[in-house]
Amino acid sequence: MIYTNYGRTGAKVSAVGFGGMRFDESKSNEENAELLLYAQSKGINYFDTAPTYCSDTSEDIFGIAMKQMRDTRDAYHVTSKGMPVEFNTADKARKAVEKSLKRLNLERIDFYHVWCIRRMDQYELAMKKGGQYQGLMKCKKEGLIGNIVISTHLPGPQIKQILAKDEFEGILLGVNVLNFPYRWEGIQAAHDAGLGVVAMNPLSGGLIPQHQDQLAFLAGPNETPTEAALRFCISAPQITVTLVGFTTREQIDTACRIADEARPFSDADIERVRTHVSENMNALCTGCGYCLKSCPQNIPIANYMQVYNEKLFLNLDDKAMLAKMKFNHDWGLLVDRCADSGYCVECGACENVCTQHLNIMERLKEIAAWENTLMCG
Ligand code: SF4
Ligand code: SF4
Repeated sequence: MIYTNYGRTGAKVSAVGFGGMRFDESKSNEENAELLLYAQSKGINYFDTAPTYCSDTSEDIFGIAMKQMRDTRDAYHVTSKGMPVEFNTADKARKAVEKSLKRLNLERIDFYHVWCIRRMDQYELAMKKGGQYQGLMKCKKEGLIGNIVISTHLPGPQIKQILAKDEFEGILLGVNVLNFPYRWEGIQAAHDAGLGVVAMNPLSGGLIPQHQDQLAFLAGPNETPTEAALRFCISAPQITVTLVGFTTREQIDTACRIADEARPFSDADIERVRTHVSENMNALCTGCGYCLKSCPQNIPIANYMQVYNEKLFLNLDDKAMLAKMKFNHDWGLLVDRCADSGYCVECGACENVCTQHLNIMERLKEIAAWENTLMCG
């Protein structure tokens, strides 16, 4: 296992982190807790969870494991998270921290995230006087929290804007071998600022393991595309910890082996993947965000197009897309939308700026049909 300093915090963290969002929910909490103990025995010392993960059982599962890991408390690091939209006062933020501490059976959360910042107004809400950040600062002074960090889906320039204010010790960002050309600016900026950089979603939400044949170009000699995708994040010098959502011991073994081997992608490998992604995945939205300001109706085009990516990549039918849309409305990329797909007036402004030249208007029509079905039950 590789261990690195988490920014300037003094914490030495493992290159592979345990992501607590993919437990097997058919198992008991006690059975799932054993997976955390196993991960610790393999050298993993960074454990990431949040309220609501795995039908809101993840923190409880962690709590069972933490009780058993108490003797080694100083040797591992635990995270949790709170969203500023939900905990919009200092008092509510503190109550959220106290609730997580209780569930986790801990006296301190080492890294607490201002969670899921998708827009600048959400960041501003967290930082307002008497808001979440102020509550977290007080928790930090009292030792309930070790470090305040941020988790965000913002584009690079806005991440730079936030980091310039020097309010956070680290950052959690979604990045993987398929989307890195469009996410790297934020990663590099955080690394250059001397922060801890934690990567989530290294397997693109399961898309990479499910499409090994189409993604064969990712793999080097004697490895699968999934192993290559893990290796890409785990061995990147700019990334401090790569979170992997573990379900089985075998997955832990694979990720730890890759960390032991520590073979970074060469510049030639990176260029090969970059070229292949941009040449052969032209029908996919890359999340570049160039369309963000183009829409007079304030439709979150990129978010809708990212959901549509799954239809293209996984060849999903209408029934499966309805389930995807429901998930994204309840919890995912569409939860904070300002306008629905059906508000499109077909002005064409987004298609004029789309770097991938996607037929956005046609796709929005399909999406609007799914949204109508959802609304009509
Ligand atoms: S075509 Fe539709 S989605 Fe695109 S900018 Fe115009 S109104 Fe917005
Ligand atoms: S400009 Fe095109 S590729 Fe970029 S985010 Fe918007 S829809 Fe996606």
